[in-house]
Amino acid sequence: MPTYGYDCADCGAFDLVRPMAEAGAPAPCPGCGAPGRRLFGAPALRSLDPAVTGAIDASARTAEAPGVVDRLPASRRRTRYTADPRHLRLPRP
Ligand SMILES: [Zn+2]
Repeated sequence: MPTYGYDCADCGAFDLVRPMAEAGAPAPCPGCGAPGRRLFGAPALRSLDPAVTGAIDASARTAEAPGVVDRLPASRRRTRYTADPRHLRLPRP
């Protein structure tokens, strides 16, 4: 179930985990019990797949100062661009 933000007029903002079907209804404040109205904010990006959050973090970390590498990334698979066997005898860089 997702977490929604609500605002109590007396106690302030609070978060509540509720079913999506009940998200729009006023939520009882945990402090005073008065109904709190829903707040709309940014989505909780930390609940994404760890690979996605890692890519977002790496992108933000290197946005201003790109990372420095000292070698090319290792290639796991060699791609053959031609089937002509004479090309295999050509010099390699
Ligand atoms: Zn309250």
